[in-house]
Parts: sequence; structure tokens; C-alpha cells
Amino acid sequence: MLSTMQDVPLLISRILAHGSTIHGTSQVITWTGEGEPQRRSFAEIGARAAQLAHALREDLGVRDDHRVATLAWNNAEHVEAYFAIPSMGAVLHTLNLRLPAEQLAWIVNHAADRVVIVNGSLLPLLAPLLPHLKSVEHIVVTGPGDRSALDGAGVPVHEYEELIAGKPDTYDWPELDERTAAAMCYTSGTTGDPKGVVYSHRSIYLHSMQVNMAESMGLTDQDTSLVVVPQFHVNAWGLPHATFMTGVNMLMPDRFLQPAPLAEMIAAERPTHAAAVPTIWQGLLAELTARPRDVSSLTQVTIGGSACPPSLMRAFDALGMRVCHAWGMTETSPLGTVARPPAHAIGTDEEFAYRVTQGRFPAGVEARLTGPGGERLPWDGESAGELEVRGAWIAGAYYNGPDTESLRPADKFSEDGWLKTGDVGTISPDGYLTLTDRAKDVIKSGGEWISSVELENALMSHPEVAEAAVVAVPDDKWGERPLATVVLREGSTADFASLRAFLADEGKIAKWQLPERWTIIESVPKTSVGKFDKKVLRRQYAAGDLDVTRL
Ligand code: ADP
Repeated sequence: MLSTMQDVPLLISRILAHGSTIHGTSQVITWTGEGEPQRRSFAEIGARAAQLAHALREDLGVRDDHRVATLAWNNAEHVEAYFAIPSMGAVLHTLNLRLPAEQLAWIVNHAADRVVIVNGSLLPLLAPLLPHLKSVEHIVVTGPGDRSALDGAGVPVHEYEELIAGKPDTYDWPELDERTAAAMCYTSGTTGDPKGVVYSHRSIYLHSMQVNMAESMGLTDQDTSLVVVPQFHVNAWGLPHATFMTGVNMLMPDRFLQPAPLAEMIAAERPTHAAAVPTIWQGLLAELTARPRDVSSLTQVTIGGSACPPSLMRAFDALGMRVCHAWGMTETSPLGTVARPPAHAIGTDEEFAYRVTQGRFPAGVEARLTGPGGERLPWDGESAGELEVRGAWIAGAYYNGPDTESLRPADKFSEDGWLKTGDVGTISPDGYLTLTDRAKDVIKSGGEWISSVELENALMSHPEVAEAAVVAVPDDKWGERPLATVVLREGSTADFASLRAFLADEGKIAKWQLPERWTIIESVPKTSVGKFDKKVLRRQYAAGDLDVTRL
């Protein structure tokens, strides 16, 4: 029997229509550095998104599933592109501005982007790529920045404001199939070549609803969210779409992502929520310790993208900011788990233990653990295996451009269609995920696994350690052993023996897991999205570039 319910497609244009009317007075506030922040209401964003869609269609010939790329910071124009491009039926492709130039060019060509909307400040990055971009027909520039870098670009260059000026401020958005492509994002390639993930209108709509649940971020129109996580990094974790559903104001840092301006914008605009990867928070913490500001408005902080060190969580707790840990990936839109403790643990000693897990799965995400031989592992909080997930906002394949061999590589998708995350961990009987490592980072020592993350967290809880990364290095006897690379705080006198003793203290780390190879580094190399880049450390070790002490 068929249901008797209306079949209304879940479209991004509907999120836009809702946000720009019901929540028309909510604001996107873009930080401008020295001057007044730019304030634009959701109603204005809606009108300008319609104007942009007209310009793209009528002036630049964008139609069907043409890809329109953005090379942009988090700001109001980027939000306009987020809504205009998918709503008109085209595909938004957010480009990661921190990628090496060759990778960026490869990705633009792979996605066959026709138009690039670029912030003026990023022209020096785009201009040298242009001769290598095969599909780009138009460039649209927004905001301040010297345009001369584009002299002789070879393709028409347009000013965003001139292009949209005078266009109608409404658009008859097409009634699309909700499963059509809305946006695409390439994985940042922490562990291999970038791969294109294509989100549908339906997946983004459902994901946005999940982001808004109290179980996840649970924000309302009384909130302002400081969206530090870039719009090119998994759609800023879904925040631009989710906020348009509920009227949450967005505070956008644009290019001012350094700790000092972030602290200033928090003090000035008083956001209640913020979202970013741990490295941003480490920097902010150091800044706030050195130069305290009034950050009392910020009570909820979502941290994900890599494991949040428990020491960081405690430090923010002490500042009155409650950290909520979350796990996800480009392939999961990204919301996969959120660490909200269960009711019975609140106010007990167990609460913190729940908060430092990666979190529990929402109703829309099914999970299973697979052992090395392909066997299903129990949710007993002890059996560690590779996490596989399935759900309406989980990728089932990669974008198949002309030079991709397979849509569904066997190391990424199981035969029955689940996403293999490459993350190794346990699940407790009540559904909380604890990641012990990435499959590629885990240290395989004498047939046993050592978690690099556990060692890093233990090291970073030492008061004199600013940052620490642990990687597997080849070992004649054990196959692999951990190498500890440590960044000490200024003025620290800690030596390796005392750090090792600290790890062994109170049985924090089992004796056989203690690293015997140690080195001091100036900073941990980071990937384009601020994660520890262990590939670089492994390479440096192999090349003999690290000054390693053996205990
Ligand atoms: P990339 O794989 O290129 O780094 P993603 O941004 O998609 O790009 O990264 C997803 C990965 O980041 C996950 O598979 C996981 O390894 C890691 N990750 C994300 N959130 C967390 C977290 N809270 N704790 C530990 N690891 C995390």
C-alpha cells in the first residue's frame, strides 16, 4: 500500500525560501578586520542569491548540472553561492584554498568546473593556475583585493557586484528531483588522492535537520554560531544550510583565522557557539591565556575533524566553554557521531568519559565494526575494528570523472554498499564510538596494535608539551614501533626520559607501548585543513631529517 502523504522533494531552494522569509531578520556577519563587520540579513541573502542565479544563467550560460566552483573564505557571498547554485539546479563545487596548486588544478579539471567565484584576496592563488584549467569559462571576483593578477587571464573576468546588480531579486527555482547533485567536495587527501563526493539535495536537507537536533548542535534563532570550519571543508559541517532552517545567525571570519582576530570577534560579536578543528582551538587557548578577553558568550563549542585531546577539553571547560566532540568525514556530510553523554551520566564521574569519546550515532547513521578478517565485531567497548557506516547522508560512491577508474573502490566501500571509513575503534553497548586510530596510522608492533592517538593525548596532557604527534616507524624486531615527535612549550626543560616516565606514570600507557624513539620538532606539520600530517613526519624520518634520540 502506498502512503497518502504528499511527495514534496527535499530541496535546498526550500531551505533558502524558509530561511529568507521566516528567519529573514537573522544575519550573516562577516568579519572585515579593522573596519565594521559586514551585516547581511537572511532576507538580503535570499534576494542576492536569486540575483546571482539570474546572472549565472543569463550572463554566464550556466545550466543543467554545470559545476560552479567557489574559491573563497567563509563570508556572506559564499553563503549566497551556497544557495543560488544548487537551487537553480547547477552544482556547487567548493575548492579547498589550502591545497597545493597542482592538486587544486587537478580537482578543477576533474570536476570540469565552468565558473569560478573567487575572493579578491585569493587571486594570487588562482591566477597561476589558470593556464592549467581546461574547463573554466568565466571568473567572478568578490570583495577586496588587487585584480591585476588576472591581467591576461584568457577568460572573461566579472565583478560579482556588477554582475548581480539590477537582476530580479526573486527566482523561479526549478522543482528538481531531490536526488540530483547539489554540491561536491573533494576529500582533503590526508591519506591518498583527493576523491570527489557529490551531495544531493535530499542528503543535505536531511543532514541539516540532524545538525539542528538537540542531540547534535541544537541551535536556535537565539544563537550566533562562529563558523570557523571552512565552507570548503565538508560544507562547513552543514552549518550554512542548518542555520537557514532555524534562523541561527552566522559569524563568518573571512580570512581572519588567526588566534588574535578570532578572540577579538568573539569578544565583539558575542557568538554563543563555534565550530572548528582542534588546532584552531589550541591556538585560541594560547591566545586567551596570554591576553584574556571576554569570551563569556561562547558556551558551546563543537570540535571535530581530528581527535580532541582531553586536556584541551578540560582547558575550555575551565573557561566556561563546553566542548562537544564530534566525528565525521567528507563522505559523511560530515555528521557521523556527536558526544552528548546519556542522561544517566550527567553530573557523575562517567560524564567526562563519555564526552571524550567520538560520540554516539544519530538515528540516520547505522554503524558496524569489521575485524581484520572481515568478521563483524560486537559492540562491547573492547573489540577494535574498522568502522563502516550507512545512511541517507553517507556517500555510496565517488564522483566518476574521466580519469577515475572506479566509482566504488573496494577499500572504501563494502560489497553490500557500506562506507569503509578507514577509522579503527570500538563501540560501546550503548552506541558510543571511540576511535583508536586511522587504519593507516595505527602502529603494528609485534602483532599488537598501538594507538598513535592515545600516545599523543597522553603526551599532550603533560603541562610542558604544546603538541605531539606519534607515527609508526619500521623496527627490525617488532615490525613497527612508535616515534614520538614533540613540540615543547617555550622555556620547557623537560627531557625525553621524564616525558617517558610521565607516560608510564599511573599506568597511563602500557609499558610495551612506550616509545623508545623521540625527537623535538618546532611544530607538527599540518594538512590543508589543519590536521596532523603524519605522511610528512614519516617521510622526514625515512629521509633521516629528524634528530632522533633512542632511550
Ligand atoms: P581527510 O580524510 O582527507 O582528512 P576528512 O576531512 O574527510 O578528510 O577527514 C575525515 C577523517 O578525519 C575521519 O575519517 C577521521 O579519521 C578523522 N576525524 C574526524 N573527526 C574526528 C574525531 N572527532 N576524532 C578522531 N578523528 C576524527
